[in-house]
Amino acid sequence: MAEENRKLEPFQNPKGLHDILPGDHEFHTFVKKVVRHRARQAGFRRITTPVLEYTDVFKRSIGESSDIVSKEMYTFQDRKGRSLTMKPEGTAGVVRSYIQNGMNQWPQPVMLYYFEPHFRYDRPQKGRYRQFWQYGFEIIGESDPALDAQLILLAHRINQDLGVDKVVNLQLNTIGTAESRAKYMQALQDYYAGKERSLCEDCKARLAKNTLRLLDCKQEDCRILAELAPVMKDYLDKESAEFHEELKGYLEEVGIEFVENPRLVRGLDYYSKTVFEFWDKTDGEQNAIGGGGRYDGLIELMGGQPTPAVGFAAGVERIIANMKREKIRVPSKDDLHVFVAQLGKEAKRKCLPLIQELHEAGVKTMGALGKGSINEQLRIANKFRVDYTVLIGITEVREGTAIIRDMSKGQQQTVKMNKVVDKLVKLLGEKKLDRYTPGELLYS
Ligand code: AMP
Repeated sequence: MAEENRKLEPFQNPKGLHDILPGDHEFHTFVKKVVRHRARQAGFRRITTPVLEYTDVFKRSIGESSDIVSKEMYTFQDRKGRSLTMKPEGTAGVVRSYIQNGMNQWPQPVMLYYFEPHFRYDRPQKGRYRQFWQYGFEIIGESDPALDAQLILLAHRINQDLGVDKVVNLQLNTIGTAESRAKYMQALQDYYAGKERSLCEDCKARLAKNTLRLLDCKQEDCRILAELAPVMKDYLDKESAEFHEELKGYLEEVGIEFVENPRLVRGLDYYSKTVFEFWDKTDGEQNAIGGGGRYDGLIELMGGQPTPAVGFAAGVERIIANMKREKIRVPSKDDLHVFVAQLGKEAKRKCLPLIQELHEAGVKTMGALGKGSINEQLRIANKFRVDYTVLIGITEVREGTAIIRDMSKGQQQTVKMNKVVDKLVKLLGEKKLDRYTPGELLYS
């Protein structure tokens, strides 16, 4: 009896792994739709790789000495003793799939995008979780700085669509080819020789194998040393230098601002030439919303033909956090287009048929048909964030007109009453009108 009455402790989610509750799903769905729309527009097709891959897929691509592989992977053995890992990022699986499915026989370049959960055994904190969603793009099969520019432009457009472009800045660097990077890493090792004692424990361990990562360590002493370290530019091969100049030219052409950051290296081994990240203007790299770069050697490293490629991935939770901070409102199918406000009995009589006609035309309309003053009615219109308000007062009734007010611009125009519906349909234009026949509802 006592056993039965004992109150059971409710379960908690594992640390760093979160529910996406309905309120957040509105944001999630919106981000996904924007990504899908922009991807389709540019000819990218969706790919989904499994959540689990053989561990070697990540070890070989991301690199054994990287933070992800050395300490952040969820790795376990399956019942047959094979080592499997929950994907910590998207590119490795996509490349595995590209090779396995003979995508080099498809028209090149192959342009793919994904929207997937990823898993890293990171220390949970603001903007850092153990399960997080990323969307990403990969262009595989061609090497041209115009492709790098296209990808950066695409990421920028998505940031704009989501209203977060103003809160980030684009950091850009080149880390050259594997050969020039080897020379640069030697120069770094020479520079750090004798300075080991000033480095943090992580950087001491990175010195031999993961030298580039010393440049983006966040520890104070390591930062000071990194400031004075040799820069990649002085070791860059001619081809990479020209490639980088061309890329910058394209970015200028399309009006994308960037900050040249010689210390940007990215945490994964597979990058070459272009690397870039979108940094939070206030929190900097700690809360980058996305990053990417060129990975010309990866496909060969993974067992495929030598194939150039470039990719980008962004963190959905961090984007949503920025959208909330910027008070971005997610558009909803329930949003109204038009609010009809009236003053006086005569005006109200005109409103009823007008609202009806607007509904028939597919314009989502609401009218204040109660007794509220015109100011109260306008307050409601603002609250519903309608695109337009129609105002009908005594003068308008007498003259057979109505006023159409553009709520975002604050401008108004007087229109003949019998032209109001046409005018609004035209003004709303591209916005999808909500027309249907009752039969269609079954399938919508
Ligand atoms: P990365 O390839 O590691 O630069 O990751 C790309 C983007 O994914 C980052 O800029 C973040 O927005 C996001 N991201 C990476 N790790 C995490 C994490 N542990 N929690 C939340 N978002 C993350």
